[in-house]
Amino acid sequence: MQIKQITWNLNDTNNDTTELRHCSNCGKTVPFTDTMIRRHNANGKNIYRFAIYKCEKNHTWNKKLEIYRTYTGHARVVEERNSQPTKISKILIEQLV
Ligand SMILES: [Zn+2]
Repeated sequence: MQIKQITWNLNDTNNDTTELRHCSNCGKTVPFTDTMIRRHNANGKNIYRFAIYKCEKNHTWNKKLEIYRTYTGHARVVEERNSQPTKISKILIEQLV
């Protein structure tokens, strides 16, 4: 039997994903837009989850979302893709099986 594993990250695109913030590269307060890309950073016993925001001139700001404690009983997870998300309005299940 073949098993297909599909991981979805569903985002509400109606939410405002822009924040006004000082950009040290631009030298002024500019709007930063959420790229919907997430990254994790480990630091000692903590794992940080960041949202990657970009200003209009493509400068990056990592907004800290959550902090997790590391633990010894690890579970295998599907690696989060570090690429631009795609917008899909229709999913044909028949094509996936
Ligand atoms: Zn900037």
